[in-house]
Amino acid sequence: MSIISLTPPAFALADELLKRTRSRCVVCHLPCAAEVWRTGGIASKVFLKRVCPEHGETSVCIASDARFYWLANGKSENACGSPRCCESADGSTSGTLGLNADPGEALGVIEKLSTCLALIEIVNSCNLSCPTCYADSPRRTHEDVDAIPLESIKHRIQGVIDRKGTIEILQLSGGEPTLHPQFFELLRWLQDHPQIDYVLLNTNGVRIANDETFARQLGEAFCYGRFQLYLQFDGVQQAGQQFLRGADLREIRERCLERCRTMSLPVTLAMTVTQENLPFLWESIEFGLRWPNVRGISFQPLFTSGRIPRSLSAQTSTRLNTGDIILAAVEQSRSRLRFEDFTPLPCGDPNCATIGYLLKVGGEVRSVSDFVDFSKVQDFLGTKIRYKLEDLMKCGCDSEPLGELLKQFELDETHTFRLLIKPFMDAGTWDEDRIDRCCTHVIRPDGQLDSFCRYYSGFADCKTA
Ligand code: SF4
Ligand code: SF4
Ligand SMILES: [Zn+2]
Repeated sequence: MSIISLTPPAFALADELLKRTRSRCVVCHLPCAAEVWRTGGIASKVFLKRVCPEHGETSVCIASDARFYWLANGKSENACGSPRCCESADGSTSGTLGLNADPGEALGVIEKLSTCLALIEIVNSCNLSCPTCYADSPRRTHEDVDAIPLESIKHRIQGVIDRKGTIEILQLSGGEPTLHPQFFELLRWLQDHPQIDYVLLNTNGVRIANDETFARQLGEAFCYGRFQLYLQFDGVQQAGQQFLRGADLREIRERCLERCRTMSLPVTLAMTVTQENLPFLWESIEFGLRWPNVRGISFQPLFTSGRIPRSLSAQTSTRLNTGDIILAAVEQSRSRLRFEDFTPLPCGDPNCATIGYLLKVGGEVRSVSDFVDFSKVQDFLGTKIRYKLEDLMKCGCDSEPLGELLKQFELDETHTFRLLIKPFMDAGTWDEDRIDRCCTHVIRPDGQLDSFCRYYSGFADCKTA
């Protein structure tokens, strides 16, 4: 693949311009020309600098350690592990969106990109009112829920399938999607649909924890192998809970997990990472490993779209990036996790997602790099956008090193624990090259596809009609 690892040579002392791209002013959000620089010295970092004519220069650290930054440009042929990725059905590839691309043109380009995950909001309101809600969902009571009509949801999903073919992962989101009054009717339709492979339910877990009838119905309705919970989770510690959710929800999350465990419902924990819960990443991993039905943790550095006040989103010093998460998790693990356990996903821009795996082998937790050079599986990962290690067992790739590994230990998905780092962008970290390669899409109210980062950015020129 054509990404370039930026492992700094020992003699690198001067700052180095890595590339030019387009970003946003953190104050007014207008597009600006930007540059990506690697600092000199051994502990190299990577910064994104932009100058707004009105608000001046802002520089944001986008990699606290340059080893975890990958140089990739917006043109699709420069950054993709698979020839299939980022091509439309007719084989055409994307082009750059341009600094001042009009919104219609930008959406046209996104339509042509490979859609690895399609997210749809099915409820606009929520039973929580998190101060950090990227969707800025208003709180409503159960009776007063602002739900999207079922026919509109189906129509828009079907529209994407008609235009682009099978959806590999369809993510239900909101607001809080479990509040939809026809939730189970929708779930049945999705799971029965021959062109939807997998359904993820993006939930805060409150309804599953508190509503026994709903939980029981979910246990009866979900189809194993085609459905998973993407459960909001803020770590095992007390620190940071109030900041993120305005409440301490740890007990509710455990109750939800316990219910999922009894019905063998697979769960991925989705942890928003801030400075406050950063010291507890390994504890959170250990917590997840204790549950037989928890398949992994997704770490998302807090991004400041949605309800976050502008004053906070303009701050540059408290931001976290993929490097911060890898460094913290490895250090906290006391050698049970290593840098080599992580590799960027080559589908889309490699800075958009990094994965790692832990294996549960014979009662022990082992690092995947105990068994295999994980960096050598890039090509395989490039065509496996569902990120499922266990798929190797079914794909017939007998010579693939991970396939061999899994056969050796007779592992199935209950023995693998996935670590995913997903750094969504806001104005501070905005690199338009990444949008050019985006594969995580939102099905907008008008049925068009948009990049997740663009859709939730709140930029005036990206708003839905
Ligand atoms: S972040 Fe999620 S749970 Fe919190 S208010 Fe927004 S939609 Fe609701
Ligand atoms: S949504 Fe954002 S972070 Fe995810 S693939 Fe698209 S540009 Fe990258
Ligand atoms: Zn500005």
